[in-house]
Amino acid sequence: MKKELCRMTRNNLREVGDLNDCLFCKIARKEIPADIVYEDDDVLAFRDIRPQAPVHVLVIPKRHIASLADLTQEDKDVMGHVTLVASRLARDLGVSEGYRVVINCGKDAGQSVFHIHMHLLGGRSLGWPPG
Ligand code: 5GP
Ligand code: ZN
Repeated sequence: MKKELCRMTRNNLREVGDLNDCLFCKIARKEIPADIVYEDDDVLAFRDIRPQAPVHVLVIPKRHIASLADLTQEDKDVMGHVTLVASRLARDLGVSEGYRVVINCGKDAGQSVFHIHMHLLGGRSLGWPPG
């Protein structure tokens, strides 16, 4: 029991640490500026600081989720919502002729910010397979 409590405390502390330190949580709380293209109560979309295409937007749930590997049942509505926002933004930002959404998961896939985000890339022809 003691051991279990200890583990819970460690996990909770780690979560609190994540929320305080996380770059995208800070953007969601408006502590760091971003070029926001869409916002509602649960989802935020902003332009990537180092765009890889004429349109390069990141769509995030405002609530901290570290990565695709951490998703639980609880997250399915918000991730559906993230996907719908990406689909609408593709139309509104004029790339509906062809675009790509990408979620990098884990460091081997190039995930560098551990707050889940969907890249929306468009406005140029996109090679396949990605590197
Ligand atoms: P990842 O590599 O984790 O899939 O994607 C992280 C993305 O976040 C990268 O494309 C990177 O350019 C972007 N990024 C990193 N720091 C910032 C920032 O402070 N502001 C914005 N708008 N984008 C950022
Ligand atoms: Zn976060």
